[in-house]
Amino acid sequence: MKRPSLNLQILIGAITGLGLGWYFHGLGAENEVVKLGLYSASLVATLFIDLLKMIMIPLIFCSITVGIANLRQHQQMHKVWVATLAFFTFSMAVAIAIGLFASNYFKPGVGMHLAMFSNAMQNFEAKQLPFSEFFAQFLHGVFLNPFTALSQGNVLSVVAFALILGIALVMGGERYKNILALLQETLEVCMRIVNWIMRLAPYGICALLLKLVLIQDAELISTLGKFIVVILGTTVFHGLVILPLILFVFTGKTPLWFWRGAREALITAFATSSSNATLPVTLRCITQHLHVKPEIAGFVIPLGATMNMDGTALYEAAAALFVANLAGIDLSLAQQLIVFFATMIAAMGAPGIPSAGMVTMIMVLQSVGLPVEAIAILLPIDRLLDTVRTAVNVQGDMVGSLVVQKLVHSS
Ligand code: ASP
Repeated sequence: MKRPSLNLQILIGAITGLGLGWYFHGLGAENEVVKLGLYSASLVATLFIDLLKMIMIPLIFCSITVGIANLRQHQQMHKVWVATLAFFTFSMAVAIAIGLFASNYFKPGVGMHLAMFSNAMQNFEAKQLPFSEFFAQFLHGVFLNPFTALSQGNVLSVVAFALILGIALVMGGERYKNILALLQETLEVCMRIVNWIMRLAPYGICALLLKLVLIQDAELISTLGKFIVVILGTTVFHGLVILPLILFVFTGKTPLWFWRGAREALITAFATSSSNATLPVTLRCITQHLHVKPEIAGFVIPLGATMNMDGTALYEAAAALFVANLAGIDLSLAQQLIVFFATMIAAMGAPGIPSAGMVTMIMVLQSVGLPVEAIAILLPIDRLLDTVRTAVNVQGDMVGSLVVQKLVHSS
C-alpha cells in the first residue's frame, strides 16, 4: 500500500495527538496509562525539537551568508532590505491595531478584579525591564563573538554575523569564491538533513499536542474564557483574513495555494510554539513548496523569525488592555498609542522561543504603568495561546518573503 503524503501524515499526527490528549485528560493524571503516555510523549517531543534545533543554527548561518552574497551579486540587496523592513513594520502595525480594537470593543477583563488572582500573583516577582534597559540589553546582544553565538544558539547574533560575513565575501569577489562554494554546499546538505528530520514530524507533532492538551488547567481556562476567545479569535482572523488578503493583493496568490505549501511549517509552529525551532521547516516549505528564491528566503525567513511577530504583537497589545481592565484602569487614546509603539518594539525584540512574548510584555505594561504582577495570571494559559500566536508569526514570515520577492522582481 502506498504511504500517505507527509502532509497528510502530519495532519493525522496532529489530530491523533489532540484526541489522545483529551482522552488522557479525562482519565486523570494519576492513571498509570496516562503517566506512561506522558513520559513517552515527552521523549518523542523532545527528540523532535532537539533535532530541529540541532540543524537550525548551521542552516541560518549558511542560508543568510549565501543569500546575501547572491543578492549583492544581483545588485538587489538594497531593495530586499527596504521591502523586508517595510513589510515587517506594516504587518505588525496592522496586527497591533486589530488587538487594540478588539480589546476596546469586547472589553475582556471588565467585571473581574486583580484581587481574584492574588494567589497566583503572590509568588511572582517580575524583573523590572524599563525601555532604556530593554533597548540596551537588546543592542548588547546583537554583536557577539560568532563562536559564542553559534554555540549558544543565539539567532539574532548569528543573523548579524552572517550578514556581515556575506557582505565581506562578496566585496572580496573571486578571492573568496571557495568559502562561498563551501557554504553553499553546506546549506544544501543541511536541507537534506531537514528533509530526514521531517519524517519524524508526524510523531513529534502528535507527542507535542498530546502533552499540550494533557497539562491544561480547565478551571483557569473557563475563568479567563472571554479573554482566551478574544485573543484566539483575533489572531486567527489575522491569519485567515488579513495576511491572505495582503498576499493576494501583492502577489495574486490564493489562500488555498498558500496553505498547501505552508501547512507543514504552520502545524509545526503550532505544536512547538517556537518560530526558531520551526525555522528549518519554514525554509523547506518556502523554497521547496512555495518557490521563493533561496537568496530571498534565506534572508527574510531567519530575520523574520526573530523580528517579525504579528501574533505576538497582537497578543501583547490586547493583553495590556486586558490587564488594564483587570486593574480597573481606563487607558486614554494617548496611552494606547504608547502601548502601540511599546508593543512594536517588544514584539520585535522577542526571540522566537516559547513564551518569549510574555517576558517582553513586561516592558509594554510598564510603559503605561500597569501592574507587572498580572503576568502571573497569563502565564498558566500561555502555552495554549502561544500555539496560534506562533503559527501566525511564522505565517507572517512566509507571506513576507513571497511579497518581498514580488516587490523586488517587479520593480
Ligand atoms: N513563541 C513565539 C514564537 O516563537 C514568541 C512568543 O512568545 O510570542 O514566535
